[in-house]
Amino acid sequence: MPTFPRKIYTKKLITMYEFAVTPAITQLRRPGVTITEVTPDSLGEELELQPNDRIVKVNGRSVRDYLDFRFQTAGETELTFNVRKPSGEVLEIEFDREEGEDFGLMFEQIVPRQCANECLFCFCKGNPADARPSLFVRDEDIRLSFLYGNYTTLSSITDDEMNRIIEQRLSPQYVSVHATDLKTRAYLLGVEESRADIFDKFQRLLDNDIEIHAQVVLCPEINDGKQLEKTLRDLASHYPKVVSTAVVPVALTRYNTDDRLTRVTPEFCQRTIREVEKLQKEFRRTLGTTFAFLGDEIYLKGGVEIPSRRHYGNYPQIEDGVGMVRSFLNAFDRLLRRTKAEPPALAGGKDVRTHALAIKPKAFTTQPLPPVYAGGSALNGTILTGEMFGPILGEQIAAYNKLTGSKLRVLSVPNTYFGGDVSVAGLLTGKDYLAIADQIKGDFAIIPKHTIKSDEPILLDGMMFDELKSKFPVPIYDLDTNGLIEFLSR
Ligand code: SF4
Repeated sequence: MPTFPRKIYTKKLITMYEFAVTPAITQLRRPGVTITEVTPDSLGEELELQPNDRIVKVNGRSVRDYLDFRFQTAGETELTFNVRKPSGEVLEIEFDREEGEDFGLMFEQIVPRQCANECLFCFCKGNPADARPSLFVRDEDIRLSFLYGNYTTLSSITDDEMNRIIEQRLSPQYVSVHATDLKTRAYLLGVEESRADIFDKFQRLLDNDIEIHAQVVLCPEINDGKQLEKTLRDLASHYPKVVSTAVVPVALTRYNTDDRLTRVTPEFCQRTIREVEKLQKEFRRTLGTTFAFLGDEIYLKGGVEIPSRRHYGNYPQIEDGVGMVRSFLNAFDRLLRRTKAEPPALAGGKDVRTHALAIKPKAFTTQPLPPVYAGGSALNGTILTGEMFGPILGEQIAAYNKLTGSKLRVLSVPNTYFGGDVSVAGLLTGKDYLAIADQIKGDFAIIPKHTIKSDEPILLDGMMFDELKSKFPVPIYDLDTNGLIEFLSR
C-alpha cells in the first residue's frame, strides 16, 4: 500500500461499438491488453481493476499488448488508464503511484504474429498430422524474439515493428539469417528475393544499437561450405552488435519428403567441424570470441569431442541447443567430484534467453520425487533420454553409480513418432515412451521435462501426462538437466 494519500478519479467515457476480430489471422487486434489476474491488496485492486478488464490506453497512448503497457507506464507516477469493462463500458481512471510501485496485474500472453515464409525445412512440414496443435504455430514475432529468444527471419517485418524495436529498445533480437547470399536465403525461405532481402533492416537495427544473435539452419548442399563461410564472415564483420551466431543442423523427420533437402550425415558433420574450426580460431584471435557456435548435434553425430568450456564463453546460444552438452558434462563432473555442496549450476540458468519482462506460463504441478530418496540413499531407477544424448548420459551415470552404489540405468529412446533424423531428447513423445515401457527397471523412471508442454501436462503427440503415468509400470518424474543434477546431488 502507498505511504502517501492516493487520489483516484474515475469517470465513464462514451464509447463506440468495438468489433472483435481473430488476432492471429487478421493481425488487426482489439485495442488494449486484457488483465488476467489482480493481486490482492495491490494497486490494481485499489483501482478496482478486475480480470477481463482491458486497459486500452495509458496516458492517452494506445496499448497493444503488455509490452506496451510496461513501456508506457515505466517511470510514470501520474497515470491515466482507459479501461474497457467486459460490459463494454469504458472508464477513465486517473491516479498517482509511488516511484516503482507495482500494479499487481497479470496480463494475457501475446498472440504471436504468423510468418509469411515457406521454408524448405520448416518444422511444421515435418509434423505428423496428429501432433499437438501448438507444434503447427508458425510464429514470427519480434516481441517474442525479445521476450523469449524466439528466432524471426525479419522477412515480413513491418515499419511499425521496426520502429517499435528501436523506440522500445527490444534488444537483443534473435534472427534466422541462414545465408547472407540473397539467392540462397530466398531459396531456403521459399520467398521472393525482395522479401528475403533484410540487409537494410538488419543494418538499421545495428545502427540503432539493437543487438542481434543470429542463427543458421545448416542444410547440406545449400548453405554449407563456402556459403557458410561467407555467411559467418559477413555476420562476424558486425561483431559486437551481432553478438553470436548458432549453426544448427537441419533435422528432418520421416515426414520431410522434399527431395531438395539432403540429410545430415556423420561425414558432413566432421567436414563442417573442420571448416568452421578454422574460422572459430580466426574469430577468437581477431574478435576475442568464438562467435560462430556449432550445435551440439553436429559434434555428437560426427563423433567428435564436444569443445571445452572456454570455447563457449558465456554460452550465448545455449537455448538453441548450443553448448548444452558441455555445460551438463561440467556440472556432472563437479557433482562427481564433490561430496556435500550446493548442486552445481548449469550454464546460464533456466531462463537465460527469457527476458525479465516475459510472462512465464504457470507450471502445472508435477509429483514430488519419492521421499525415500531424500538424504542421499542409493537410487534404483531408469533415466530416459534421446538416442543422441543417451551414450554421454550413460557414461556419467555409470560413474555416479560406482561412486554412490546406485543402480541407475539410462535408456536411449528411439523416436519413432517423428522418425527420420530426429534423435534429440526434447522431441520424444508419449508413444515413444510407451514403446519401451517394458525395458524400465527399478522403482521409478525419469523423462526429460521439456517433452511436456510448459503450461499444460501434455506431450508432443497429444498424450496427456496422466495417461502416460497410468500406463507406465513405475512412477514417472519429469526433470530437466538442472533438475536431474539437483536430484542426484541429494
Ligand atoms: S520462418 Fe520458416 S521455419 Fe519458421 S515457421 Fe516460418 S516457414 Fe517455418
